[in-house]
Amino acid sequence: MGHVIAIDGPAGAGKSTIARLIADRLGYVYIDTGAMYRAIALWAWRTKTPAGDAHKLEQLATSAEIGLHPHRHVTLNGEDVTDAIRAPEISAMASQVAAIGAVRLALVSKQRELARHENVVMEGRDIGSVVFPDARVKIFLDADPSERVRRRAGELPDHHHTTLATQLAERDHRDRNRLESPLLQAPDAVYLDSTGMTMEKVEEEILAIVRAKISNGKG
Ligand code: C5P
Repeated sequence: MGHVIAIDGPAGAGKSTIARLIADRLGYVYIDTGAMYRAIALWAWRTKTPAGDAHKLEQLATSAEIGLHPHRHVTLNGEDVTDAIRAPEISAMASQVAAIGAVRLALVSKQRELARHENVVMEGRDIGSVVFPDARVKIFLDADPSERVRRRAGELPDHHHTTLATQLAERDHRDRNRLESPLLQAPDAVYLDSTGMTMEKVEEEILAIVRAKISNGKG
């Protein structure tokens, strides 16, 4: 087993940016587990599989060949789906398929496999709580809802912000309130609120936490 740094938190808290920076700094492999749920959602969308068809979704999740490549390139059964999985309807569908226990089981087993021989920085919702309860370092990265919307909105014109805010709030609510592996902070995770912080500052804080944990010899 490699070492695992788990970064969990709601959408838009800055997890992807920060997880990639930390992985680069430490020479670990960056793993975006959200991309895996998105890939299954895309496949479901294309095959017109309803979000309530747990059996079919489980089949998709167990048979999907999901590739996570450098520079956030993602492949599904050999096809480049990097951009397709980021569409708003796929974000919404991802959080619906992610509520299904059998889908989670299939993807969690792929996630554990990815860390078998390598050190990883893995970001998601349940990495510290379920996927790797013994992770060496666990961070719960949070930010105020308005800041999370701002970060996601980027250059979008103002009138798109309300739609984005609604979509983000719905997804968050579903992720926090589902029965299977809801988004929550593991008891031994370090809580970090990135509201008003630059990514450099967040990186600095997390690297300090990583160094402190590693020098304690934990994991
Ligand atoms: O991280 P991202 O926003 O791309 O994730 C898309 C969706 O996948 C989330 O809204 C969540 O429902 C689901 N997800 C999850 N568990 C993870 C990662 C993502 O349930 N570890």
